[in-house]
Amino acid sequence: MPLDILKIRKDFPILSQQVYGKPLVYFDNAATTQKPLKVIDTISEAYKMYNSNIHRGVHHLSEKSSEAYENARAVVQKFINAKFSYEIIFTRGTTESINLVAFSFGERYIREGDEIILSTMEHHSNLVPWQMLCERKKAKLKVIPMNANGELILDEMDKLFTPKTKIVAVTHISNSLGTINPIKEIIKKAHDRKVPVLIDAAQSVQHTKIDVQDLDCDFFAFSGHKLYGPTGIGVLYGKEEYLNEIPPYQGGGDMIHHVTFEKTVYNKLPFKFEAGTANYIDAIGLAVAIDYLTTLGIYEIAMYEHELLQYAASKLQTIEDLIVYGNAKYKSSVFSFLLKGIHHYDTGMILDKLGIAVRTGSHCTQPVMDFLKIPGTVRASFAFYNTKEEIDVLYEGLLKVKQMMS
Ligand code: PMP
Repeated sequence: MPLDILKIRKDFPILSQQVYGKPLVYFDNAATTQKPLKVIDTISEAYKMYNSNIHRGVHHLSEKSSEAYENARAVVQKFINAKFSYEIIFTRGTTESINLVAFSFGERYIREGDEIILSTMEHHSNLVPWQMLCERKKAKLKVIPMNANGELILDEMDKLFTPKTKIVAVTHISNSLGTINPIKEIIKKAHDRKVPVLIDAAQSVQHTKIDVQDLDCDFFAFSGHKLYGPTGIGVLYGKEEYLNEIPPYQGGGDMIHHVTFEKTVYNKLPFKFEAGTANYIDAIGLAVAIDYLTTLGIYEIAMYEHELLQYAASKLQTIEDLIVYGNAKYKSSVFSFLLKGIHHYDTGMILDKLGIAVRTGSHCTQPVMDFLKIPGTVRASFAFYNTKEEIDVLYEGLLKVKQMMS
């Protein structure tokens, strides 16, 4: 069934406000998404009714919050079809999930001279942690190149593998270009050479149906706040065999089984990787966001967002001197562009005064901007609560930018 967008918009109180006297047009969804009332109410209710630290208490409230937290883990497990709930580790977000793997996998498996394969279009979160690991271990990064459309050149990837390749870490969807990468093929290429793969799914879980068992990825990272859930909560999925093999990332409460001054025996999965008080309230909120999305239907969301992207592409590209960056065959709802001769920052500032929220800059992908030889882009990123009428507002806004800057 097609989505009832006007009804859906009522679930997001933030969308009905005015900015500088103009109706807000929120096109910064790749940076963070807005939260449905259900998520906001769940968090508020948890604090009002049953807040209590998890896993440690015998009392009623602690049992209730522990149960809700573990239920959230089960919701995430089902959402991405992980085999076991203990393969789901709650983290602060994609960045922390990737840092965890870069550290723990790095400690266990990376030695001097080893190689790690990334792609040109990685977010800094899936680049800098690996670079830090390489500095620590004297290992080396290798980069899958991309073509002018913003698509990875997979034939070139084949040439990067050597017996020293220890892991491949790639993004599923590019946050600055919108490219949807053929991750199943990438995973297969790596597995054929017995190399594990981490997928940065920060931009994909909210747009496409995910089945980690079908993908056969070894690690999979995403953030709650880009999935219509709270900030400060994210997920790392890891295959049991790797999570058991790699050491903990942080030490502290909850991640231990037994402690003496001589030695600590670590807790079993997933607690081994969840040191200290977990962000249980936001995990509970995330589970409600996932329920909300799955009730709408991920396929329906994907179809509608695709329609928005196509509408934006056909309408906005009629503007003279508008250059689109990211012309991959398979794209998610990210529209990155520049108006010739106008700095991205000026475009963003003028649009803001018209109530339109877009992001400008390098979008934490400086190597992509270096490749394109531009300082940054203007990025409009769409969610299922956006409308074609809002794209029309952006169109008019861009004409105004051109007029003002000419
Ligand atoms: N990877 C990608 C592709 C992203 O778009 C982002 C967020 N912009 C991140 C990683 C980092 O996510 P977070 O800041 O939520 O940790």
